[in-house]
Amino acid sequence: MEMEQTNQNRITQLFGIKYPIIQAGMIWCSGWELAAAVSNAGGLGIIGSGSMYPEVLDEHVRKCKEATDKPFAVNLPMIYPDIDQHIQTIIKHQVPIVFTSAGNPKTWTPLLKEKGIKVVHVVPGVRFALKAEAAGVDAVVAEGFEAGGHNGLDETTTMTLIPMVKKELSIPLIAAGGIGSGRGMLAAMNLGADGVQIGSRFVASIESSAHENFKNEVVKTKDGGTRLTLKELTPVRLIKNEFYHRVEEAYEKDASIDELKQLLGRGRAKKGMFEGDLNEGELEIGQIAGLIDEIKPAAEIVNEILTEFKAAKAEIQQAKFNF
Ligand code: NDP
Ligand code: NDP
Repeated sequence: MEMEQTNQNRITQLFGIKYPIIQAGMIWCSGWELAAAVSNAGGLGIIGSGSMYPEVLDEHVRKCKEATDKPFAVNLPMIYPDIDQHIQTIIKHQVPIVFTSAGNPKTWTPLLKEKGIKVVHVVPGVRFALKAEAAGVDAVVAEGFEAGGHNGLDETTTMTLIPMVKKELSIPLIAAGGIGSGRGMLAAMNLGADGVQIGSRFVASIESSAHENFKNEVVKTKDGGTRLTLKELTPVRLIKNEFYHRVEEAYEKDASIDELKQLLGRGRAKKGMFEGDLNEGELEIGQIAGLIDEIKPAAEIVNEILTEFKAAKAEIQQAKFNF
């Protein structure tokens, strides 16, 4: 007879959720609709505030609270220009959890903690993870090179990053970058993670706010279809579209940082991911896009990941190793 298990670990306990599956905060893709759907399915949904004007975030937080009574979070990239206003919105609405990224965790953690908000910081390396822990965050997301969008400079893969961070870190650890299935989730947890953060797979969901063209392009993307580029500005993983090839040509001509900045211009991420301009826009997605073959409701994605996780776990347990 199967034993009834408590089904709790450090991440589900910390956030008060059912499954340690976290949907990444993603500019232009993760608004209240996706966040609420994932939270309602038992994971943790995150509103990506980096692409939202202050009044837009206010609206998304209000709608998310109406759409779910489960915990949800806001991702706050610290490079956001009007960050003070986002912080005020988060405090005003008593958002229970904040994921900070792209900046120093010492800056906002004390204030958010003082307001009773749980803080998680996203890092690309061991040194950053320890700085976040020292800054008093509740958990760390360690994100590897495979991840879509903005990324660390060092190209450390999730496979290598997670065990290295695990060895040094005491607080709960969430793995990100390259995870899009139950098999990936099991692998990450075997490497030492207490939970997983999944972005790309949720871009290709019904509830994602990404443009339909971009969602379809994600489904079409195969292995080798993305590349981390523009390291001199902010490193970003993009689908190899027309804009990406223009960046490559610029590199071949030894373009200066100013020329790269000019080529990038302003608002390319919005153009590609939100407005669906597949040629001129930036299409930020992770390497795991190669595994994504259908656009589905977010709850179905959560359930599929869980089912595959359990099957993969059983497969390993049943394997007869002769060593
Ligand atoms: P750009 O500088 O090229 O353009 C800014 C974009 O952000 C515009 O499309 C603009 O919308 C929108 N925007 C939303 N709120 C504001 C605001 N208060 N002030 C100015 N613009 C705003 O930046 P990117 O598109 O490359 O990045 C946008 C933001 O996303 C960054 O500031 C950063 O905070 C965040 N970011 C976070 C990531 C992460 O942490 N995961 C990854 C990548 C970016 P409009 O066109 O309607 O004016
Ligand atoms: P800054 O260079 O402005 O630094 C912000 C803080 O991070 C500073 O306190 C700095 O510490 C620390 N820091 C920067 N580089 C390192 C390093 N190599 N090792 C340890 N600490 C460091 O940072 P950014 O905001 O541009 O980026 C910080 C990190 O986050 C980078 O690795 C970057 O690649 C990554 N990043 C992640 C994004 C995401 O969405 N996940 C988006 C953008 C960046 P000190 O004062 O000691 O120098």
